[in-house]
Amino acid sequence: MDGFTHRLAGVSTASIAIIGAEPHIHLASATLLIIGGYIGGELPDFDKNQSDFSQNHKLLTILLNTFVLFLKGKSNTHRGISHTALIPITLYLISYHASTLPCSPIIQVLATCGIGISLGYASHILLDLLTSMGVMFFYPFSKKFISIGNIKRKNTNTTRFIIILIVFFIWQLQMNYGSTLQFF
Ligand SMILES: [Zn+2]
Repeated sequence: MDGFTHRLAGVSTASIAIIGAEPHIHLASATLLIIGGYIGGELPDFDKNQSDFSQNHKLLTILLNTFVLFLKGKSNTHRGISHTALIPITLYLISYHASTLPCSPIIQVLATCGIGISLGYASHILLDLLTSMGVMFFYPFSKKFISIGNIKRKNTNTTRFIIILIVFFIWQLQMNYGSTLQFF
């Protein structure tokens, strides 16, 4: 799956969270969530040399891969440690907890952005999960590649179309049923 599709999915997931947020969130927080969703949407592919993320953020890619090397003792596998569900879940819990604390504005900004990154990250893993290769979803508990779909790379336009449809559908639901809908 290409970087654009992942970024689109990341931003869409953050948008869905904003649409469903109750009570409605501040514009600044919404912007941070969208930025986080954009970053998180492509972040997991730092493990692939030719990915958009690796090409556009070379220094960060080297740092992240060095960190993985330090953790695992060997080089990174594509869709391995960086594609485990544990990362977005942990990041979400830490960021959400930090966002509820009475702390400095910088921590609040980082926490809100962290929530957005976790949502984008989760969308990336979900999309890769739908491909025939799958991901190491349960790493470090299992190194088995899990796949729940058979999307091929050439179906990228279809995937983008489906993402846009889902966001439009949820937006319409929210417009029509507003206060009775709650996603979180
Ligand atoms: Zn990926």
